Amino acid sequence: MTQYVYRFGGGVSDGGRGDKNLLGGKGANLAEMASIGLPVPPGFTISTEMCTRYYEEGQAFPDSLRAEVANGIAHIEGITGKRFGDAADPLLVSVRSGARVSMPGMMDTVLNLGLNDETVVGLATVSGDERFAWDSYRRFIQMYSDVVLELDHGRFEEALEIAKEDNGHYLDTDLTADDWKRLVDEYKSIVQELWGKPFPQDVHDQLWGAVGAVFGSWQSERAKVYRKLNNIPGDWGTAVNVQAMVFGNMGDTSATGVAFTRDPSTGDAAYYGEFLINAQGEDVVAGIRTPQYLTRAARETAGAKPMSMEEAMPETYAELASVFDLLERHYRDMQDIEFTVERAKLWMLQTRSGKRTAKAALKIAVDMANDGLITREEAVARVDPSALDQLLHPTLDPAAPRDVLTKGLPASPGAASGAVVFDADTAERRAELGEAVILVRIETSPEDIHGMHAARGILTARGGMTSHAAVVARGMGRPCVSGAGTLSINPRERRFTVGGREVREGDILTIDGATGEVMLGAVPTVQPELAGDFGTLMEWADQVRRLKVRTNAETPLDCRTARDFGAEGIGLCRTEHMFFESSRITSVRQMILAEDEKGRRAALDKLLPEQRADFIEIFEVMAGLPVTIRLLDPPLHEFLPHEEAEFAEVAEAAGVGIETLKRRASELHEVNPMLGHRGCRLGVSYPEIYEMQARAIFEAAIEVAVKSGAAPIPEVMIPLVATRRELELMKAVVDQAAQAVFAEKGRTVEYLVGTMIELPRAALKAREIAEIGEFFSFGTNDLTQTTLGVSRDDAARFLGTYVDKGIYARDPFVSLDIEGVGELIEIAAERGRATRPDIKLGICGEHGGDPASIAFCETIGLDYVSASPYRVPIARLAAAQAALKGRG
Ligand code: ADP
Ligand code: MG
Ligand code: MG
Repeated sequence: MTQYVYRFGGGVSDGGRGDKNLLGGKGANLAEMASIGLPVPPGFTISTEMCTRYYEEGQAFPDSLRAEVANGIAHIEGITGKRFGDAADPLLVSVRSGARVSMPGMMDTVLNLGLNDETVVGLATVSGDERFAWDSYRRFIQMYSDVVLELDHGRFEEALEIAKEDNGHYLDTDLTADDWKRLVDEYKSIVQELWGKPFPQDVHDQLWGAVGAVFGSWQSERAKVYRKLNNIPGDWGTAVNVQAMVFGNMGDTSATGVAFTRDPSTGDAAYYGEFLINAQGEDVVAGIRTPQYLTRAARETAGAKPMSMEEAMPETYAELASVFDLLERHYRDMQDIEFTVERAKLWMLQTRSGKRTAKAALKIAVDMANDGLITREEAVARVDPSALDQLLHPTLDPAAPRDVLTKGLPASPGAASGAVVFDADTAERRAELGEAVILVRIETSPEDIHGMHAARGILTARGGMTSHAAVVARGMGRPCVSGAGTLSINPRERRFTVGGREVREGDILTIDGATGEVMLGAVPTVQPELAGDFGTLMEWADQVRRLKVRTNAETPLDCRTARDFGAEGIGLCRTEHMFFESSRITSVRQMILAEDEKGRRAALDKLLPEQRADFIEIFEVMAGLPVTIRLLDPPLHEFLPHEEAEFAEVAEAAGVGIETLKRRASELHEVNPMLGHRGCRLGVSYPEIYEMQARAIFEAAIEVAVKSGAAPIPEVMIPLVATRRELELMKAVVDQAAQAVFAEKGRTVEYLVGTMIELPRAALKAREIAEIGEFFSFGTNDLTQTTLGVSRDDAARFLGTYVDKGIYARDPFVSLDIEGVGELIEIAAERGRATRPDIKLGICGEHGGDPASIAFCETIGLDYVSASPYRVPIARLAAAQAALKGRG
């Protein structure tokens, strides 16, 4: 027969050291605390298996449970010497829910169960405190009516308020025994009125009512919603804990409190908490009275008068502090604790690993490893890599006031303030004059890149988490709020309105890319701290990781940032961004508008020195490290103007007639540019473009090698290859350029030619493609797009629904679709290696900075991941954790 009831306390622990799956988190930790000799009021846990059975049997209990529960009650009676329902000296219990993970939506706790019109009198007599007994009874009726009978709690609160006012009292501690007695009568008549029956007087009915309510709450709407949002399986079930009451409301030597063993917001190794004298249960957090500080130091820092627990109850406090230390050593983690003091005697009511900010997580992990409490590997494993995001960017000063205009999507973390501008050119112009600007657009496109770079932050009205604005901003480390749908932007009039308020160009705006908040005016920010604990943890992570971490970067500034964050090379340097710069766009357009190869070459000759200069700067920062450069990828029409108004100006600058420009623009127009004339297809049509780029790369590499002695290792990457032949043709162009440059300069540099794998066909034909390509870089943005047949730019409209319905577990553009796209990557890696065992393999999509995707890269043995500069530390930590998991 299955056992459902597990006793704890008084030297007994049926559940041993506490199994959370069976006993729930609260029950397991109560059993564990009891088993290591801490003062825990005795009790028992009805297991989560009972919850499952309860639903299998149509919300009924098996008969065997009655006997088991009776046995559990007898256990508590034996230890306390009190009897449940005894009119002379009654045992009171609490009934507490407790799932495996803490879960709002579950039934609230009922305290003081076992009180009725008779036992309350006995309680008053044995405690010698009539006020305490009636206070407990009124609390019990109120809680039971609310959480078990589900009656309108407003009526009870109202009655309490009236009782206080009638007596001219402000605090509930001012009420006397007689006041409480009257209130109990009042409460009972409210129950009769709302429930149609008298308040249950039989203590066993009370108990089974509460137990049933806990199991019933597992399927409440609130609980179901919470489970869905947090991916908690519905069949886990909750446990029920029944535990002897201890009383913090027995006068001035009694108290109740909550504490953390370290400061959960800073991680400082100082006890942190609050307590209230003569109070019960949740009074501390409910704000009934202002709680007092736990430690004297905290009280003094806050400049508060009321005594701290350290001062008011020095002996009990000392005992509590030693329990804190013991629990930390036992659980080897910071603990979140509930305790009660009954007439100077300390009781522990709960412990669990405490929630903490990213900053605290970092500090606690490093401190604990330094103290030898945990190993360095454990410290590395404990910090959530995604949480580092919060630490790497400036954040808003939490104390500063803010005037929130609206909220969009938290697209790229960090906070920034600046003057509002509505187009990229203005952003660039004003930024060059040293002004901080926020670029506000309906949505962004590749033409806006220079403005996004110049801006401190980006705000868009349209577009999701993987919109152009979001992806590019994350890449650049610029804060971004996207999809702020309530903004009505009028770029021509240079203003926007939101919620009836108007903001004009030049007005100061603050955005918080971590929360999506948009605020009027400047809100001060706090700078991140990259040395100290952060640096230490990163060092430890580097000692365990196998995967190399590179960065996706194309400007010297981003390269620097990435190096500072620990990047070990560049995994993706996109060259098209260099073409958009205002000084070059005219030559680019001349190249596109040229009628023949001769004309194109003339324009390319003008671009060559500029492109070479770009690479020199990048190679200098990345001296001695591999730099993967992707040759031109986007369709050419992206470089031509889209607005009628711009045509004349552009035609003139490029030295062509406006008709020629219009004709060429319409020739280049594509219905589906993503699958159009782009990637290596450009190189196949116009080899001279790739030739110029290759030449610029090799000339720059030699120049840096000569100057600094540390030659970079260029890895020339051909985009959007589907077939072996494409790569063969393009590699020949690159090799020829290399040979020509080497001959001219009289020296060589090491280099590789490889390809991006971003089309399913390329993944499948990897065996043949590896005959030519010396490395593969998985371009998972396009590979996801082409494998799923889902356009990244249009997906926002329906992907949310797909994730809600569980079709994809997460947004496949954010976290790799391991099942599908991952299988293709695995196939390509395997087939590529079959041909070329030492082929270099890496990943360079957005996924290179996503911990789950990085874990996958580790399992299939890729050589490196490449992430945007600000995600480099996240990738380093995630790679270390993946390596640790691999070791088991
Ligand atoms: P929650 O999960 O909401 O914290 P708990 O079951 O921990 O719910 O209980 C709510 C409050 O009641 C807490 O302050 C807790 O310490 C207190 N409490 C629970 N059981 C007892 C008990 N047996 N004696 C005294 N206080 C208790
Ligand atoms: Mg609790
Ligand atoms: Mg691509």
